[in-house]
Amino acid sequence: MSKSARWDSKDESKHLPIYQHKHNLIQAVKNSTFLVVTGETGSGKTTQLPQYLHEAGFCKKGNIGITQPRRVAAITVAQRVAQEMQCTLGREVGYQVRFDDCTSQDTVVKYMTDGCLLREILADPGLSQYSVVILDEVHERSLNTDILLGLLKKLFSSPAKASKGRSRPLKVVVMSATLETDKLSAFLGNCPVFTIPGRTFPVTCMFGTAVGPKDTESTGYVKEVVKMALDVHSSEMFRACDLLFEKAEAIDYRYDVQDQTVEGLLILPLYGSMPTDQQRQIFQPPPPGIRKCVVATNIAATSLTINGIKYIIDSGFVKQLNHNSRVGMDILEVVPISKSEAQQRAGRAGRTSAGKCFRIYTKEFWEKCMPEYTVPEIQRTSLTAVVLTLKCLGIHDVIRFPYLDSPEERFILEALKQLFQFDAIDRRGRVTQLGELMVEFPLHPGLTRAVLKAASLSCQDMLLPVAAMLSVENIFIRPGHPDKQKEADKIHRALAAKSGGMNDFATLLTVFQLCKSSDRPSEWCRQNWIHWRALKSAFSVETQLREILLRLQQRDFPVETFDGNKGELFRQCLCTGYFTNVARRSVGKVFCTMDGHGSMVQIHPSSSLFDQEAELNWVIFHDVLVTSRVYIRTVCPIRYDWVKDLLPKLHEVDVYELSSVAREEVTDEEMMKWETREAAKRQPEVSAEDV
Ligand code: ADP
Ligand code: MG
Repeated sequence: MSKSARWDSKDESKHLPIYQHKHNLIQAVKNSTFLVVTGETGSGKTTQLPQYLHEAGFCKKGNIGITQPRRVAAITVAQRVAQEMQCTLGREVGYQVRFDDCTSQDTVVKYMTDGCLLREILADPGLSQYSVVILDEVHERSLNTDILLGLLKKLFSSPAKASKGRSRPLKVVVMSATLETDKLSAFLGNCPVFTIPGRTFPVTCMFGTAVGPKDTESTGYVKEVVKMALDVHSSEMFRACDLLFEKAEAIDYRYDVQDQTVEGLLILPLYGSMPTDQQRQIFQPPPPGIRKCVVATNIAATSLTINGIKYIIDSGFVKQLNHNSRVGMDILEVVPISKSEAQQRAGRAGRTSAGKCFRIYTKEFWEKCMPEYTVPEIQRTSLTAVVLTLKCLGIHDVIRFPYLDSPEERFILEALKQLFQFDAIDRRGRVTQLGELMVEFPLHPGLTRAVLKAASLSCQDMLLPVAAMLSVENIFIRPGHPDKQKEADKIHRALAAKSGGMNDFATLLTVFQLCKSSDRPSEWCRQNWIHWRALKSAFSVETQLREILLRLQQRDFPVETFDGNKGELFRQCLCTGYFTNVARRSVGKVFCTMDGHGSMVQIHPSSSLFDQEAELNWVIFHDVLVTSRVYIRTVCPIRYDWVKDLLPKLHEVDVYELSSVAREEVTDEEMMKWETREAAKRQPEVSAEDV
């Protein structure tokens, strides 16, 4: 980067709406413990406020930490701020996201995901390293941010704890787009609210015809969006021809992005796990005469501001992690967005001049299918991991924790039940020694349980790579072209065969090992239709998990012996973590889950066990995909014997004892609801042939 470009970005920041309020903002932070800062997206909150506080000397007695719900946002914003402050990323300005730490001894302004700060609180409940903690994007209402809000509120309810080990009191800034600021202020003891007046231009919104009230599970919306984008592109600027449409439709934007162009259009993807060098391009102006078209997940709605956006095409849908009561698990679902989210999306077109927003859905869809606000994540996803974190922080009564919006009690009870099943808490809801170890791993508790079991049997070398492979994006490339697809499928089947052909977890291990021992791993990936980037991350994740494990093994770590068949050790370890995901073959290709939901599921065609169902009786699986059917993915056959002693744990739990809630305190209505659910979950009979 040239010197002049650096000066440019610094100069640019002086034109942001926040700049005029610099002095007052610094004063406001100095004057109170909690401060809510609100302003239109793009006004400069995320990139500027930490710099102002840095300049004002807040880093002399501690660091400035800024949380983001999304990892891409944390990384991109840190890059930008490092550039504006003219320092190397990772020195004064750094970032930390799960499995990627770009900070050093010198780091004083640290962007991180909310999950990372939650982990830091575990090690240092008073956050003594920080002088200011900024919770950003609070309006997104991510699970971890909501928990952080409650924890920080609680911290200041005991002043002794809040001031422990520090010379200056901690300051907490909560930043949000213009939603719900009164509620936030009330929650934080009626703290002051600082509003940055924004300037926005009018955005004309137009409804389309492609998605109506009957299409709430639409899968065709991607095509409609592409069509609309090209319509806009051609009618508002360039000539269009069918060729363009065909070309654009053929773009599989997850792969080979750089090579794909449509005449006059520079197509850039923007999504959660994309590589950082590609992210940089998003912010750069397009070459003369070329229009930039950013295909984004809802990360672009508020987390990141791309200058000069004039047209928005709104699909009306979002991919969201929701607790699915049909299968009793969290799954990614495509659901209609809320009206407030739609307004945010539209607003992105009016930042630098008047803009237009094309919605592919009808007015009727807006009225009938889109809720007013998005339901906070805490009310729709599994709470298992955060409940364990709270317990490890000594917060025993997780039901009466100060939640900004309380989750339904049954979700909390469900989380406690799962923790009990994984031996992370005991019957009275107290954290076990194993629970203390489990909380250290940034993985799903089931997967952690399997890793710990393996480690106690000294065979972590089998489980750590699998845990890493399951923590990165899908490693198998499935090309769009039918011939290539056949070729890729064949190669993937051969890889599965190398690991015995009947265990998807073992296939992951094999791919990991083969690639790692290859002289030219990237070439190996190319030949085998494997994502090199994903595997590279898996290697790094595996190293980090190994380091965590080594650290834990210095403590009082369980040691067990195994007297079964060595060839079955791997699968038996998996069972310890996946016995909640056990299914038994029912009829034909249909399996029935044993977790009490009794869902009817089928093996996904991507599994090496697909079409081999006749040979199987019992399987465990990593996750499910819900379409018109429920599919289980990453599957492995097991023997009933291995889970026989574990399965009763799924049913014989007294949730009230776990939650330490006296029965009398529970309303009759709650009790009825719970008991009806439990009754419906009776475990299917097991017959002799299964054993
Ligand atoms: P807010 O947090 O209020 O939404 P930001 O601080 O994120 O606002 O954005 C302020 C400005 O900084 C915007 O104009 C945005 O385009 C610009 N910006 C942020 N990140 C980058 C980046 N990585 N590259 C270029 N510009 C950026
Ligand atoms: Mg922001």
